[in-house]
Amino acid sequence: MNLILLGPPGAGKGTQAKRLERSHGLVQLATGDMLRAAVASGSGLGQRVKAIMESGRLAPDAIMIEMIADRIADPDCAAPAGAAPGSAKSGGFILDGFPRTVPQAEALDAMLAQHGRALDHVILMEVDEAALVERIAGRFTCQNCGASYHERFKRPAVDGVCEVCGNAGLVHRADDRPEAVATRLAAYRNQTAPILPYYRARGVLRTVDGMADIDDVTRQINAVLRDG
Ligand code: AMP
Repeated sequence: MNLILLGPPGAGKGTQAKRLERSHGLVQLATGDMLRAAVASGSGLGQRVKAIMESGRLAPDAIMIEMIADRIADPDCAAPAGAAPGSAKSGGFILDGFPRTVPQAEALDAMLAQHGRALDHVILMEVDEAALVERIAGRFTCQNCGASYHERFKRPAVDGVCEVCGNAGLVHRADDRPEAVATRLAAYRNQTAPILPYYRARGVLRTVDGMADIDDVTRQINAVLRDG
């Protein structure tokens, strides 16, 4: 099963993708996490995208398309032989943060066709923009594994310590500053929202209420995966 989680920054895509990874045996492909890892490693790619990311703008399509094309060719993204499509543990991936532009969506179709795969669901997490600003302002993440937390909605069991990997480095993202958040929301409206009609026209787009609490959003997504 191959899915896309769509929605503005702060909609909860990463949180839900991590849950789906565990419950459905899917691989989370989070382009933002991949880019942050590149920045942290100081690689050539990291140096190219660091300032772009911190400002809240989108990285160039060519870079992102190549990154995802390489990643979905990896064996862990393929459904295991003989697995019933859509069954739990059927394998496949969850795209979290890609595609973010129409050219990325078109390139994704070409890649999937090349690998003989299809998109099963595109799930839009709808959220209210005012709430996003509050959500993002309180958000912090683990520097080591990327797990996300929130000062009000999702505190770690032990203050300052990641529940997933035990790392004590929980930080606010550089692009969660208010100016960068405004740029990211504008990028979503102007560059990412235009991909919604593309998927709606193909009949694969489903919407969940991203304002509901985390468990309820998970239930809504599971209902989509079950019933289509
Ligand atoms: P995210 O963690 O998904 O919010 O992504 C953080 C930042 O990484 C974005 O604000 C962009 O600068 C960059 N980025 C992540 N994914 C993409 C993408 N598919 N296209 C362009 N830029 C991206």
